[in-house]
Amino acid sequence: MSKRQRELSIRFDIDTIPGVEKGLFNLLKLARELNVRFTFFVNMGRTFDLKTALCGTRDDSGDSTGRGVRQTPVEHLGVEGILKTILFNPNLGVEYARQIRRVLDEGHELALHGGMNHPRWQHGLSAMTTAEIRRTLDRALAVFREYFGRRPRGFASPGFNSDWRVERILSEFDFTYHADSRRGSPRMSDSSPIAVVPCTLMGPAGVPIVEYLLSQQYNRSDLVRHVMSELGNKKYACLYGHPVCEGRHYVLLKDILQRAMEEGWLIRTHHEIVREFVE
Ligand SMILES: [Zn+2]
Repeated sequence: MSKRQRELSIRFDIDTIPGVEKGLFNLLKLARELNVRFTFFVNMGRTFDLKTALCGTRDDSGDSTGRGVRQTPVEHLGVEGILKTILFNPNLGVEYARQIRRVLDEGHELALHGGMNHPRWQHGLSAMTTAEIRRTLDRALAVFREYFGRRPRGFASPGFNSDWRVERILSEFDFTYHADSRRGSPRMSDSSPIAVVPCTLMGPAGVPIVEYLLSQQYNRSDLVRHVMSELGNKKYACLYGHPVCEGRHYVLLKDILQRAMEEGWLIRTHHEIVREFVE
């Protein structure tokens, strides 16, 4: 890290229909305007799981809570988005592969977000057997390869819900890094031969910081000021969000990124950050 001071990575999880339809292209446009590259994690499977919805959440990963500190589902997805999600419930990365492929075409990093069922992983990973985790990851990797013509280097668990089995299986599957930690700097894992790119800029309960500040009714200038104060004099930070939120509020993100670049932050993809100490 000594050579490249102040690295800021911008991560988006593509895990809803409205995220693709209403936010993704704004983020790509913003990146072109600022000449920066982002890291996108895409879920290749279902975005809605009836059993999880009916039985409630099993795992409290911290990302599933957050009442009062995040946007409501209607604010976040819109009524139309909620209905589409439940009624169509597509394999997101498959059904929207054409739109998502533009991420790669425009030079961004595309990595994998979970297996073939986002809610089941986010809320029920602890109940999944090791064989089930391996199976769903194997399938997601195959589908990712089929639709995007390459394998992903990075992985992020839905809701940051991960455990030691996931890290071990990811290293067996030759992932370069995972993004499931919320602390520290990019590093090699202590327990597996895999790098870790932590996600560090958040509100309470793992809520993305921009979404959190919007839920608290921050105005544009206060929101940007708050994020800049969080960056402070750190050497590394990762700001994460979802196309459906930051894509629709891209003017806020533009302000943040312009200010950060003025203050000497280099915008890097996750893979660019780990490349120097992994390869
Ligand atoms: Zn997700």
